[in-house]
Amino acid sequence: MQKQQPPHCALCGAPLNEQELEQCHQQAERFNGQLLCFAHQRRFSGCPGLRNQGLH
Ligand SMILES: [Zn+2]
Repeated sequence: MQKQQPPHCALCGAPLNEQELEQCHQQAERFNGQLLCFAHQRRFSGCPGLRNQGLH
């Protein structure tokens, strides 16, 4: 049994490469601790409206 799961985007499920993973870790607060692909990282950092929504 393998416990390690390949990292993937929390929103679209796309597998993440090392660069994307690194960004997620560096900006974990911004992404709400989620792992996101580049496309969704951009969406998170570029749209203040998303961040102002209540996140639980
Ligand atoms: Zn994504």
